[in-house]
Amino acid sequence: MQPLVFDPEICLACESVDCIMRCQYIDLDQARAKQEHDRIVRGEMSSILKDCVTCYACEEYCPSGNHPFYHIVEQQERLGVHPVPRPIEKSQVIMMAPRGRIGKKLVSPPVIDMCFFDIMKGGIRGRLFDGATTIGGSDVFCNLMFLHFARNSTIRERLPLVMDNIMRFHLEPSGVRELICYHDECYGTYTSWAPAFGIEVPFRPVHLFDYLYHRLLELKADIKPLNAKVAYQRPCSNRLCPETDHFVDDIFGLIGAQRPKRTYEYGNALCCGGVPEAAQRFDLVEEIRGKNVADMKEAGVQYCVFNCPFCFWTLAEPVAKAGIFPVMMSDLCLMALGE
Ligand code: SF4
Ligand code: SF4
Repeated sequence: MQPLVFDPEICLACESVDCIMRCQYIDLDQARAKQEHDRIVRGEMSSILKDCVTCYACEEYCPSGNHPFYHIVEQQERLGVHPVPRPIEKSQVIMMAPRGRIGKKLVSPPVIDMCFFDIMKGGIRGRLFDGATTIGGSDVFCNLMFLHFARNSTIRERLPLVMDNIMRFHLEPSGVRELICYHDECYGTYTSWAPAFGIEVPFRPVHLFDYLYHRLLELKADIKPLNAKVAYQRPCSNRLCPETDHFVDDIFGLIGAQRPKRTYEYGNALCCGGVPEAAQRFDLVEEIRGKNVADMKEAGVQYCVFNCPFCFWTLAEPVAKAGIFPVMMSDLCLMALGE
Protein backbone atom coordinates (compact mmCIF):
# COMPACT_ATOMS: atom_id res chain seq x y z
CA MET A 1 0.00 0.00 0.00
CA GLN A 2 1.33 3.42 -1.00
CA PRO A 3 1.82 6.22 1.56
CA LEU A 4 -0.29 9.37 1.35
CA VAL A 5 0.79 11.79 -1.36
CA PHE A 6 1.86 14.54 1.06
CA ASP A 7 4.86 16.84 0.86
CA PRO A 8 5.93 18.12 4.31
CA GLU A 9 8.20 20.74 2.72
CA ILE A 10 5.20 22.44 1.06
CA CYS A 11 3.51 22.80 4.46
CA LEU A 12 6.63 23.94 6.30
CA ALA A 13 7.12 26.68 3.69
CA CYS A 14 3.42 27.68 3.74
CA GLU A 15 2.74 31.03 5.42
CA SER A 16 -1.00 31.34 4.80
CA VAL A 17 -1.96 28.03 6.50
CA ASP A 18 -5.37 28.30 4.81
CA CYS A 19 -6.27 24.79 5.96
CA ILE A 20 -6.53 26.05 9.56
CA MET A 21 -7.20 29.75 9.06
CA ARG A 22 -10.35 28.97 7.07
CA CYS A 23 -11.46 26.18 9.42
CA GLN A 24 -14.83 27.10 10.92
CA TYR A 25 -14.34 25.07 14.09
CA ILE A 26 -10.77 25.84 15.16
CA ASP A 27 -10.06 29.42 16.15
CA LEU A 28 -6.32 30.16 16.15
CA ASP A 29 -4.43 33.27 15.13
CA GLN A 30 -2.04 32.96 12.18
CA ALA A 31 1.10 32.40 14.28
CA ARG A 32 -0.54 29.68 16.44
CA ALA A 33 -2.11 28.05 13.40
CA LYS A 34 1.33 27.83 11.78
CA GLN A 35 2.93 26.52 14.97
CA GLU A 36 0.26 23.87 15.60
CA HIS A 37 0.12 22.77 11.98
CA ASP A 38 3.92 22.49 11.78
CA ARG A 39 3.69 20.19 14.81
CA ILE A 40 1.42 17.86 12.87
CA VAL A 41 3.76 17.95 9.89
CA ARG A 42 6.67 16.96 12.17
CA GLY A 43 4.60 14.05 13.50
CA GLU A 44 4.02 15.62 16.94
CA MET A 45 0.82 15.98 18.96
CA SER A 46 -1.13 19.19 18.27
CA SER A 47 -4.32 20.78 19.61
CA ILE A 48 -5.63 20.62 16.02
CA LEU A 49 -5.68 16.82 16.15
CA LYS A 50 -7.92 16.98 19.23
CA ASP A 51 -10.16 19.88 18.21
CA CYS A 52 -10.80 18.85 14.59
CA VAL A 53 -14.49 17.99 14.06
CA THR A 54 -13.57 16.05 10.88
CA CYS A 55 -15.62 18.29 8.59
CA TYR A 56 -13.27 17.46 5.65
CA ALA A 57 -13.22 21.15 4.57
CA CYS A 58 -9.45 21.71 4.76
CA GLU A 59 -9.04 19.22 1.91
CA GLU A 60 -10.73 21.91 -0.17
CA TYR A 61 -9.05 24.90 1.51
CA CYS A 62 -5.42 23.92 0.86
CA PRO A 63 -4.35 25.81 -2.28
CA SER A 64 -1.55 23.29 -2.88
CA GLY A 65 -3.69 20.16 -2.77
CA ASN A 66 -1.42 18.77 -0.06
CA HIS A 67 -4.18 16.68 1.59
CA PRO A 68 -4.24 18.32 5.04
CA PHE A 69 -7.29 16.40 6.21
CA TYR A 70 -6.09 12.95 5.15
CA HIS A 71 -2.81 13.80 6.88
CA ILE A 72 -4.64 14.87 10.06
CA VAL A 73 -6.56 11.58 10.10
CA GLU A 74 -3.36 9.56 9.65
CA GLN A 75 -1.68 11.44 12.50
CA GLN A 76 -4.75 11.13 14.76
CA GLU A 77 -4.68 7.38 14.26
CA ARG A 78 -0.92 7.14 14.76
CA LEU A 79 -1.01 9.18 17.98
CA GLY A 80 -4.16 7.54 19.38
CA VAL A 81 -6.57 10.49 19.13
CA HIS A 82 -10.17 9.23 19.00
CA PRO A 83 -12.57 11.94 17.72
CA VAL A 84 -15.56 9.72 18.55
CA PRO A 85 -15.83 7.76 21.84
CA ARG A 86 -14.21 4.35 21.47
CA PRO A 87 -17.31 2.19 22.11
CA ILE A 88 -19.11 3.99 19.25
CA GLU A 89 -16.03 3.67 17.03
CA LYS A 90 -15.73 -0.05 17.73
CA SER A 91 -19.41 -0.75 17.13
CA GLN A 92 -19.31 1.14 13.82
CA VAL A 93 -16.26 -0.83 12.66
CA ILE A 94 -18.18 -4.05 13.30
CA MET A 95 -21.55 -2.88 11.99
CA MET A 96 -20.27 -1.48 8.71
CA ALA A 97 -17.91 -4.35 7.82
CA PRO A 98 -18.34 -6.24 4.53
CA ARG A 99 -20.58 -9.23 5.32
CA GLY A 100 -19.55 -11.39 2.38
CA ARG A 101 -23.15 -11.93 1.26
CA ILE A 102 -22.69 -10.48 -2.21
CA GLY A 103 -23.63 -12.63 -5.21
CA LYS A 104 -23.42 -12.14 -8.95
CA LYS A 105 -26.04 -9.67 -10.19
CA LEU A 106 -26.06 -8.43 -13.77
CA VAL A 107 -26.57 -4.69 -14.09
CA SER A 108 -27.39 -2.35 -16.95
CA PRO A 109 -26.59 1.33 -17.25
CA PRO A 110 -27.20 3.66 -15.60
CA VAL A 111 -25.82 1.73 -12.61
CA ILE A 112 -26.37 3.61 -9.36
CA ASP A 113 -24.12 2.72 -6.42
CA MET A 114 -26.29 3.34 -3.34
CA CYS A 115 -23.30 2.99 -0.98
CA PHE A 116 -24.59 1.65 2.37
CA PHE A 117 -27.93 3.39 1.74
CA ASP A 118 -29.92 0.64 0.01
CA ILE A 119 -32.79 1.88 2.15
CA MET A 120 -32.95 4.96 -0.16
CA LYS A 121 -33.31 3.07 -3.42
CA GLY A 122 -37.03 3.92 -3.58
CA GLY A 123 -35.78 7.37 -4.67
CA ILE A 124 -34.30 5.87 -7.86
CA ARG A 125 -37.48 6.15 -9.88
CA GLY A 126 -39.35 8.00 -12.58
CA ARG A 127 -38.07 9.28 -15.92
CA LEU A 128 -34.91 10.58 -14.27
CA PHE A 129 -33.72 7.01 -13.73
CA ASP A 130 -35.28 5.13 -16.66
CA GLY A 131 -33.77 1.63 -16.88
CA ALA A 132 -31.45 2.16 -13.90
CA THR A 133 -30.02 -0.72 -11.85
CA THR A 134 -28.89 -0.21 -8.28
CA ILE A 135 -26.21 -1.90 -6.22
CA GLY A 136 -25.59 -1.26 -2.53
CA GLY A 137 -24.94 -2.65 0.94
CA SER A 138 -21.97 -3.55 3.11
CA ASP A 139 -20.06 -5.48 0.42
CA VAL A 140 -19.88 -2.48 -1.92
CA PHE A 141 -19.68 0.18 0.81
CA CYS A 142 -16.72 2.56 0.37
CA ASN A 143 -16.05 2.84 4.16
CA LEU A 144 -14.87 6.44 3.79
CA MET A 145 -16.93 7.39 6.87
CA PHE A 146 -14.04 6.03 8.95
CA LEU A 147 -12.23 9.30 8.26
CA HIS A 148 -14.53 10.64 10.99
CA PHE A 149 -13.21 8.00 13.38
CA ALA A 150 -9.44 8.43 12.77
CA ARG A 151 -9.52 4.96 11.16
CA ASN A 152 -7.80 5.51 7.83
CA SER A 153 -6.42 1.98 8.19
CA THR A 154 -9.97 0.56 8.05
CA ILE A 155 -10.55 2.24 4.67
CA ARG A 156 -7.16 1.06 3.39
CA GLU A 157 -7.93 -2.48 4.47
CA ARG A 158 -11.47 -2.69 3.08
CA LEU A 159 -11.50 -0.63 -0.10
CA PRO A 160 -9.56 -3.07 -2.34
CA LEU A 161 -12.07 -5.83 -1.48
CA VAL A 162 -15.01 -3.45 -2.03
CA MET A 163 -13.79 -2.42 -5.50
CA ASP A 164 -13.10 -6.04 -6.35
CA ASN A 165 -16.66 -6.96 -5.31
CA ILE A 166 -18.13 -4.20 -7.49
CA MET A 167 -16.12 -5.34 -10.50
CA ARG A 168 -16.36 -9.12 -10.06
CA PHE A 169 -20.00 -9.44 -9.08
CA HIS A 170 -21.57 -6.57 -11.02
CA LEU A 171 -19.69 -4.50 -13.58
CA GLU A 172 -17.36 -7.01 -15.27
CA PRO A 173 -19.94 -9.75 -15.99
CA SER A 174 -22.29 -7.02 -17.32
CA GLY A 175 -19.68 -5.32 -19.51
CA VAL A 176 -20.23 -1.97 -17.70
CA ARG A 177 -17.36 0.41 -16.80
CA GLU A 178 -19.27 3.37 -15.34
CA LEU A 179 -20.68 3.70 -11.83
CA ILE A 180 -22.93 6.57 -10.74
CA CYS A 181 -22.23 7.39 -7.11
CA TYR A 182 -25.42 8.17 -5.22
CA HIS A 183 -23.40 9.51 -2.30
CA ASP A 184 -20.58 12.08 -2.39
CA GLU A 185 -18.73 9.80 -0.01
CA CYS A 186 -18.26 7.11 -2.70
CA TYR A 187 -17.42 9.64 -5.40
CA GLY A 188 -14.89 11.29 -3.06
CA THR A 189 -13.40 7.89 -2.29
CA TYR A 190 -12.81 7.02 -5.92
CA THR A 191 -11.73 10.43 -7.22
CA SER A 192 -9.85 11.89 -4.22
CA TRP A 193 -9.01 9.44 -1.43
CA ALA A 194 -7.93 6.51 -3.64
CA PRO A 195 -5.58 8.60 -5.84
CA ALA A 196 -4.16 10.26 -2.71
CA PHE A 197 -3.06 6.80 -1.55
CA GLY A 198 -1.96 5.58 -4.99
CA ILE A 199 -4.89 3.16 -5.34
CA GLU A 200 -6.16 2.50 -8.84
CA VAL A 201 -9.93 2.57 -9.42
CA PRO A 202 -11.04 0.02 -12.03
CA PHE A 203 -14.24 1.82 -13.15
CA ARG A 204 -15.29 5.36 -14.05
CA PRO A 205 -17.08 7.06 -11.14
CA VAL A 206 -19.76 9.62 -12.02
CA HIS A 207 -21.21 12.06 -9.48
CA LEU A 208 -25.00 11.80 -9.03
CA PHE A 209 -25.41 15.55 -9.74
CA ASP A 210 -23.47 15.15 -13.03
CA TYR A 211 -25.89 12.36 -14.00
CA LEU A 212 -28.99 14.34 -12.89
CA TYR A 213 -27.90 17.46 -14.75
CA HIS A 214 -27.34 15.64 -18.03
CA ARG A 215 -30.56 13.63 -17.66
CA LEU A 216 -32.51 16.85 -17.00
CA LEU A 217 -31.03 18.34 -20.17
CA GLU A 218 -32.51 15.39 -22.10
CA LEU A 219 -35.89 15.97 -20.43
CA LYS A 220 -35.71 19.76 -20.63
CA ALA A 221 -38.92 20.12 -22.64
CA ASP A 222 -40.92 18.48 -19.81
CA ILE A 223 -39.59 20.64 -16.97
CA LYS A 224 -42.03 22.95 -15.24
CA PRO A 225 -39.94 25.52 -13.33
CA LEU A 226 -40.40 25.22 -9.58
CA ASN A 227 -40.14 28.98 -9.00
CA ALA A 228 -39.09 28.31 -5.43
CA LYS A 229 -36.26 29.47 -3.20
CA VAL A 230 -34.05 26.56 -2.18
CA ALA A 231 -31.12 26.19 0.24
CA TYR A 232 -28.55 23.43 -0.32
CA GLN A 233 -27.02 21.51 2.59
CA ARG A 234 -23.58 20.71 1.23
CA PRO A 235 -22.28 17.46 2.74
CA CYS A 236 -18.79 17.08 4.23
CA SER A 237 -17.76 14.57 1.56
CA ASN A 238 -18.39 17.11 -1.22
CA ARG A 239 -15.27 18.86 0.13
CA LEU A 240 -13.32 16.01 -1.43
CA CYS A 241 -14.74 16.76 -4.88
CA PRO A 242 -15.36 20.53 -4.99
CA GLU A 243 -15.14 20.38 -8.78
CA THR A 244 -18.68 18.93 -8.74
CA ASP A 245 -20.24 21.71 -6.62
CA HIS A 246 -21.19 23.78 -9.69
CA PHE A 247 -23.74 21.11 -10.63
CA VAL A 248 -26.01 22.39 -7.84
CA ASP A 249 -26.32 25.77 -9.55
CA ASP A 250 -26.54 24.10 -12.97
CA ILE A 251 -29.42 21.87 -11.83
CA PHE A 252 -31.17 24.77 -10.08
CA GLY A 253 -30.93 26.76 -13.32
CA LEU A 254 -32.68 23.96 -15.22
CA ILE A 255 -35.48 23.32 -12.72
CA GLY A 256 -36.21 26.97 -11.94
CA ALA A 257 -34.98 26.90 -8.34
CA GLN A 258 -33.56 30.12 -6.94
CA ARG A 259 -30.65 29.97 -4.54
CA PRO A 260 -30.75 33.10 -2.37
CA LYS A 261 -27.44 34.28 -0.99
CA ARG A 262 -26.58 32.72 2.37
CA THR A 263 -23.68 33.01 4.79
CA TYR A 264 -23.15 29.25 5.19
CA GLU A 265 -22.86 27.83 1.70
CA TYR A 266 -20.22 26.99 -0.92
CA GLY A 267 -16.81 27.10 0.87
CA ASN A 268 -18.49 28.30 4.10
CA ALA A 269 -21.04 25.49 4.30
CA LEU A 270 -21.65 24.20 7.81
CA CYS A 271 -21.70 20.56 8.82
CA CYS A 272 -25.17 19.05 9.42
CA GLY A 273 -24.11 18.34 13.00
CA GLY A 274 -24.41 14.54 12.73
CA VAL A 275 -20.74 13.76 13.22
CA PRO A 276 -20.19 16.18 16.16
CA GLU A 277 -23.28 14.54 17.69
CA ALA A 278 -21.63 11.10 17.39
CA ALA A 279 -18.55 12.70 18.96
CA GLN A 280 -20.83 13.86 21.81
CA ARG A 281 -19.96 17.52 21.30
CA PHE A 282 -23.55 18.51 21.98
CA ASP A 283 -23.01 22.27 22.56
CA LEU A 284 -21.33 22.52 19.20
CA VAL A 285 -24.17 20.59 17.55
CA GLU A 286 -26.74 23.05 18.91
CA GLU A 287 -24.65 25.99 17.78
CA ILE A 288 -24.03 24.69 14.24
CA ARG A 289 -27.64 23.65 13.64
CA GLY A 290 -28.97 26.89 15.09
CA LYS A 291 -26.74 29.03 12.86
CA ASN A 292 -27.39 26.93 9.77
CA VAL A 293 -31.19 26.80 10.05
CA ALA A 294 -31.44 30.50 11.03
CA ASP A 295 -29.37 31.33 7.93
CA MET A 296 -31.78 29.36 5.71
CA LYS A 297 -34.78 31.02 7.32
CA GLU A 298 -33.28 34.46 6.89
CA ALA A 299 -32.74 33.71 3.20
CA GLY A 300 -36.49 33.03 2.93
CA VAL A 301 -36.21 29.55 1.40
CA GLN A 302 -39.15 27.16 0.99
CA TYR A 303 -37.01 24.03 0.53
CA CYS A 304 -33.75 22.70 1.88
CA VAL A 305 -32.24 20.21 -0.55
CA PHE A 306 -29.88 17.38 0.44
CA ASN A 307 -27.70 14.87 -1.32
CA CYS A 308 -26.40 13.00 1.72
CA PRO A 309 -28.98 10.78 3.47
CA PHE A 310 -27.12 11.17 6.77
CA CYS A 311 -27.39 14.99 6.53
CA PHE A 312 -31.08 14.53 5.70
CA TRP A 313 -31.73 12.34 8.72
CA THR A 314 -29.93 14.67 11.11
CA LEU A 315 -31.15 18.03 9.80
CA ALA A 316 -34.61 17.32 8.34
CA GLU A 317 -36.39 17.77 11.67
CA PRO A 318 -34.91 21.14 12.71
CA VAL A 319 -35.36 22.37 9.14
CA ALA A 320 -39.02 21.26 9.07
CA LYS A 321 -39.62 22.85 12.48
CA ALA A 322 -38.42 26.12 10.96
CA GLY A 323 -41.15 25.80 8.28
CA ILE A 324 -38.75 24.70 5.51
CA PHE A 325 -39.47 21.56 3.48
CA PRO A 326 -36.54 19.08 3.52
CA VAL A 327 -36.11 17.16 0.25
CA MET A 328 -33.50 15.03 -1.51
CA MET A 329 -32.06 16.51 -4.72
CA SER A 330 -33.39 13.72 -6.96
CA ASP A 331 -36.91 14.25 -5.54
CA LEU A 332 -36.67 18.00 -6.16
CA CYS A 333 -35.79 17.24 -9.79
CA LEU A 334 -38.72 14.80 -10.04
CA MET A 335 -41.04 17.53 -8.72
CA ALA A 336 -39.90 19.78 -11.56
CA LEU A 337 -40.81 16.96 -13.96
CA GLY A 338 -44.29 16.80 -12.40
CA GLU A 339 -43.61 13.42 -10.74
S1 SF4 B 1 -1.99 21.81 4.08
FE1 SF4 B 1 -1.93 23.38 2.49
S2 SF4 B 1 -2.75 25.23 3.45
FE2 SF4 B 1 -2.19 23.80 5.10
S3 SF4 B 1 -0.11 24.36 5.68
FE3 SF4 B 1 0.05 22.73 4.15
S4 SF4 B 1 0.23 23.79 2.18
FE4 SF4 B 1 -0.53 25.30 3.67
S1 SF4 C 1 -11.34 18.76 8.91
FE1 SF4 C 1 -12.58 20.59 9.31
S2 SF4 C 1 -12.49 20.84 11.53
FE2 SF4 C 1 -10.78 19.50 10.97
S3 SF4 C 1 -9.04 20.92 10.68
FE3 SF4 C 1 -9.96 20.51 8.66
S4 SF4 C 1 -11.37 22.26 8.38
FE4 SF4 C 1 -10.91 22.15 10.59
